[in-house]
Amino acid sequence: KNVLLEVKNLTKHFQLSSNKTLRAVDDVSFYIRQGETLGLVGESGCGKSTVGRTLLQLYKPTSGVIRFAGETISDRTETKGHKAYTSQMQMIFQDPYSSLNPRMTVTDIISEGLITHRPNLAKKERQEKVMELLELVGLSRKQANRYPHEFSGGQRQRIGIARALAVEPSFIVADEPIAALDVSIQAQIVNLLMELQRQKKLTYLFIAHDLSMVKHISDRIAVMYLGQLIELASSEELYARPLHPYTEALLSAIPLPDPLQEQARERIVLQGEVPNPINPPSGCRFHTRCPKAIDICGMVTPVFTEVLPQHYVKCHLYGERGRNLDDNNKMVSV
Ligand code: SF4
Ligand code: MG
Repeated sequence: KNVLLEVKNLTKHFQLSSNKTLRAVDDVSFYIRQGETLGLVGESGCGKSTVGRTLLQLYKPTSGVIRFAGETISDRTETKGHKAYTSQMQMIFQDPYSSLNPRMTVTDIISEGLITHRPNLAKKERQEKVMELLELVGLSRKQANRYPHEFSGGQRQRIGIARALAVEPSFIVADEPIAALDVSIQAQIVNLLMELQRQKKLTYLFIAHDLSMVKHISDRIAVMYLGQLIELASSEELYARPLHPYTEALLSAIPLPDPLQEQARERIVLQGEVPNPINPPSGCRFHTRCPKAIDICGMVTPVFTEVLPQHYVKCHLYGERGRNLDDNNKMVSV
């Protein structure tokens, strides 16, 4: 399949004061194919939302290139062209409570984007479109004139999804869309997103803070730590064979459904706090917490390398300096 979105060496720094720079995103590269879901996972503050917001041009990148549908968009400013592709890229927010204006009816909320992006649409057509969108996301036409507070959390997230879909985007950044919802509702929203993806041929960047729900929806998963990608592989591969010690720790934190398995399993508990991205550790940024760190880890930054086919890792245990792969790139157990 074709690549829809390509990110090369994306860096986003925020200058907090004359001598304080928040290195939110540092030299991140990946692509997303048409119709694919890329999961982007990491602890809060690792820069994953900043990646999503920079893709949607809510932030201007400090450096790096973003290409969308074959065009470089990272150097664009507010022009006509900007409007044309912003309708192609939409966002679903984490918090369905604060992301919907409490004084607007559902119809007004969903119509907003249509008024901006399709100003020639007659009011009647626009209203009909809103009705269709409500049904598409599993709400009823009768609810069109209600206000956000009259809905449950899951229903509000459905409204947020309808709003994103109103302008017929091809790419959606879903920024922790289920994190604020009850566990019982999470699967419903994930299933809705997957169904809409199939129907509308959507491409997703699905952001999550842990690995528990992303496997189901993601074709591939990228793991972030302190502003950098540290592992990227297909979901099956990542769950079956995590290579980076941080990914191993994240995976070991997911509760297993079988209580016997759960008891027998060894949980990797990371020591220490996530370091401050204003002053990240030298060498491998994970070395202050890594249970497998070796001598060079604090001194030399590992390179994000394709260690196995389509499986990228940023860790000294693999690749050139590593001890886990033999000459034929076969895994050697240590
Ligand atoms: Fe751990 Fe070293 Fe690998 Fe970093 S490079 S994850 S510190 S083993
Ligand atoms: Mg976030």
